[in-house]
Amino acid sequence: MVKAVQVHKSFGRVKVLNGVDLEVAPREVLCIVGPSGSGKSTFLRCINHLEKIDAGQLFVDGELVGYARRGGKMHELGERAVAEQRKNIGMVFQRFNLFPHMTALENVMEAPVRVRGESRATAREHAVKLLDQVGLSARRDMYPAQLSGGQQQRVAIARALAMRPKLMLFDEPTSALDPELVGEVLDVMRSLAEDGMTMVVVTHEMGFAREVGDAVVFMDGGVVVESGHPRDVLVNPRHARTAAFLSKVL
Ligand code: ATP
Ligand code: MG
Repeated sequence: MVKAVQVHKSFGRVKVLNGVDLEVAPREVLCIVGPSGSGKSTFLRCINHLEKIDAGQLFVDGELVGYARRGGKMHELGERAVAEQRKNIGMVFQRFNLFPHMTALENVMEAPVRVRGESRATAREHAVKLLDQVGLSARRDMYPAQLSGGQQQRVAIARALAMRPKLMLFDEPTSALDPELVGEVLDVMRSLAEDGMTMVVVTHEMGFAREVGDAVVFMDGGVVVESGHPRDVLVNPRHARTAAFLSKVL
């Protein structure tokens, strides 16, 4: 579902990604861990084409992100084609960024109506189902300010799912939450994984990575230092850098 081949990205003279290689199979959950500044968020943003890569190749669902091959040459895709690719990818950030003047239900309905051109009736029916799936049926008519951080983040997950994505990206979805609210969001992500959603999750929640991840990648200095089964990477790391990182976070 995702394939990165020697992905490079710099901001000015700062090299952030120095040749990232990784693969995520359909229905697989890949967790990315690593120290601050190692390029985790940048890599996720490249998958979603919020950042353009400088070199290498990035495929989502077999399509080259942001480019098309025509007559043997690579062409950059226009804005509309990029938007089309992005529709298949749901993203959930640390901060939920819900529309404050819309209820939970309206937040979830918004993009399907505006971007996908769904009828309000269809979008509403789907949104009701999704809010039920994240455990918020009773709160669908509340505004973000009336919801806890954990509830807002669950609305944000429902909102991303409303676009019927093939792939979900999570960037530290629980790190802005009070500790007692982390579990409810991780539970929703866990059941999403069980339903077979393909997911890339940047997280500091090692328990989640170990239990839900099919694979874990340890990134440092803009490269994948180590990857494999969670048990191997998180319990018996092969690299000193991985071991040093884990000893700090566990
Ligand atoms: P954290 O765990 O703190 O979220 P991260 O692994 O997600 O870190 P990134 O946010 O990808 O790291 O940032 C990697 C490096 O790229 C950092 O040094 C950061 O300052 C730099 N960087 C990220 N975005 C930009 C940008 N738009 N312009 C310039 N530098 C940037
Ligand atoms: Mg980050």
